[in-house]
Amino acid sequence: MNLQFNDRSVTVAIVGCGGFVGYHLLNAVLCRTKWRVFGVDLDFYRIQDKLNNERCEFLCGDLADPAVVERIAKYPVVVNLAAICTPSRYMAEAAAVIRSNYDHPAALAEACAKSGSWLIHFSTSEIYGRTADDSGLLDEDSTPVVLGPVAASRWSYATAKLLTERYMAGLSGLKWTVVRPFNFVGPYMDFMPGVDGEGIPRVLANFSSALVRGEPMKLVNGGVARRCFTSVYDAVDFMFALFAAGSGRQLNMAEAGGTSEFTDSPAYSQAFNVGNPDNELTIAELAQRMRKIYASIKGVAVESVPVPVEVSGEAYYGVGYDDSLRRLPSVGKAERMLGFRAATPIDECLRDSLTWFVEHYFVDGAVASDEDAAASFSKDATASSGKDATASSGKNCVAG
Ligand code: UDP
Repeated sequence: MNLQFNDRSVTVAIVGCGGFVGYHLLNAVLCRTKWRVFGVDLDFYRIQDKLNNERCEFLCGDLADPAVVERIAKYPVVVNLAAICTPSRYMAEAAAVIRSNYDHPAALAEACAKSGSWLIHFSTSEIYGRTADDSGLLDEDSTPVVLGPVAASRWSYATAKLLTERYMAGLSGLKWTVVRPFNFVGPYMDFMPGVDGEGIPRVLANFSSALVRGEPMKLVNGGVARRCFTSVYDAVDFMFALFAAGSGRQLNMAEAGGTSEFTDSPAYSQAFNVGNPDNELTIAELAQRMRKIYASIKGVAVESVPVPVEVSGEAYYGVGYDDSLRRLPSVGKAERMLGFRAATPIDECLRDSLTWFVEHYFVDGAVASDEDAAASFSKDATASSGKDATASSGKNCVAG
């Protein structure tokens, strides 16, 4: 496979292009390459500004539909970001979570195995399971995985994701790479409950919502669990390191018998952690940092921002909630094989995310309505239309 970033003949399929990571990846592909994009999603709310982009073709559809799967698998590179991935849904909708995270990606993997496409599948750091608070580095190729009991349906998601990884690895002829994200954060993450979504988003969006509403952040089971928060801009940089490796090595003419050929990429048949071990915080520490950052964004005394309160996991999420107490990624493999290491420090990640959240959801001195939030996405688009579409930094580049 020859994946030069300036090659206009390459089309990458991004499944889940309208989600949080999809938004950033789509933007970066349009900014940093000359590629075309075939984008698939059910919701295009975040990417209204891209819908008329001449390098994009969008399809409103989902992987439950075999015709959609067939169309996606025609493209040489397929990135699958589609998933139900909010913990609050793992208990209430376990069967749907398993269909979304096993049945549908397995069908896509089969189609890619037939067509020869390179499938980059977003799995999860949750596959490392029910880690204890003294767990060490989680290594892609040596850490044992322990999931919780069947009664703890929190693990429906991890079980399905892990089975998908195994299925892909077992499919003959499939060119695959698995990405395991460690708590990506950044602008455009999740939703604000009661404004543009319902239920409980992941912790950073949920804490941001509480801050904007002037309500206390809720520390589940004392907020003792630890996570390594990773900038979504670093995640996008990882993808570019992966795309670059996806070309494999160009053989010289003699090696290739007189033709221009590429070897198989070393990135095939590998799982990679994508995380930032330097950004580890307990959830209680996260709440305190966010309190301070929020106070500085709003120019108010930190004492005026409500203190967090504790709540039990079962009371908050429902019966069947369980947790990983520590998720510390080993990142040596991505560094060794792809030359990638996440670099954005925790306070920058939190300030970026929270600043965006406040600007987006706090309109004219009040919490935004659904229409305000949607209008704000269009405003982002208008503001971005004059920006330099060839800039190389993911963070400062916005493709209109
Ligand atoms: N959490 C919390 N308060 C919230 C939301 C989440 O204390 O309002 C905790 C949750 O119990 C877990 C951690 O924060 O220990 C991270 O949760 P998240 O939903 O972001 O996803 P996870 O990392 O567990 O997949």
